[in-house]
Amino acid sequence: MANADKPRLAVATCSEAPPKVQRPSRAEAEAAVSILLRWAGDDPAREGLKDTPARVARAFEEWFSGYGSDPQAYLARTLEEVHGYDEMVVLRDIRFESHCEHHLAPIIGRVHVGYLPNEKIVGISKLARVVDAYAHRLQVQEKMNAQIANCIQHVLEPKGVAVVIEASHQCMTTRGVHKTGVVLVTSTMLGAFREDARTRREFLNMIGNPVSGDRS
Ligand SMILES: [Zn+2]
Repeated sequence: MANADKPRLAVATCSEAPPKVQRPSRAEAEAAVSILLRWAGDDPAREGLKDTPARVARAFEEWFSGYGSDPQAYLARTLEEVHGYDEMVVLRDIRFESHCEHHLAPIIGRVHVGYLPNEKIVGISKLARVVDAYAHRLQVQEKMNAQIANCIQHVLEPKGVAVVIEASHQCMTTRGVHKTGVVLVTSTMLGAFREDARTRREFLNMIGNPVSGDRS
């Protein structure tokens, strides 16, 4: 399907392969950090900053390791049979750290995932790995929310998926409007969670009701 034909939250087209780009060398990345240090007004040659470009490059490798992983393929490898279980599965309070794609500032929060199994289930640690894979990329919370939900829907083919994210954005707390304590809540509800208010309510009750309804 051509890119332009994709509905925004389409389940069948959730392939979120990282963009293919020509990666610079480590030396080039470190040189870029030195330029930013000078842009901030400091001297990259002084003792305290000597190793900073190398450290920042290594930190980037950790913060953005998600570009090297394919959460869909990972989930598909770890499916298990449901063995008759047909109630809601909820994993709440999955802590994540991400970075906003507008400022590279940290986004720190929690993801709550729920699904109604059809034939397949997946180990709970695997869901957390999916969250990490998307969090360790440059993100917009709404996009990450949809990516996690669509990935689970696509691979597990459950009766429905619900994903709620609560997070604070440090680009809001440390710059710009300087609003501390503000939490952005987003949700994506698919299948039964979208269509059935009782199912949605049960999920929201289980995660402590950060949202009163479907905002996807
Ligand atoms: Zn930002």
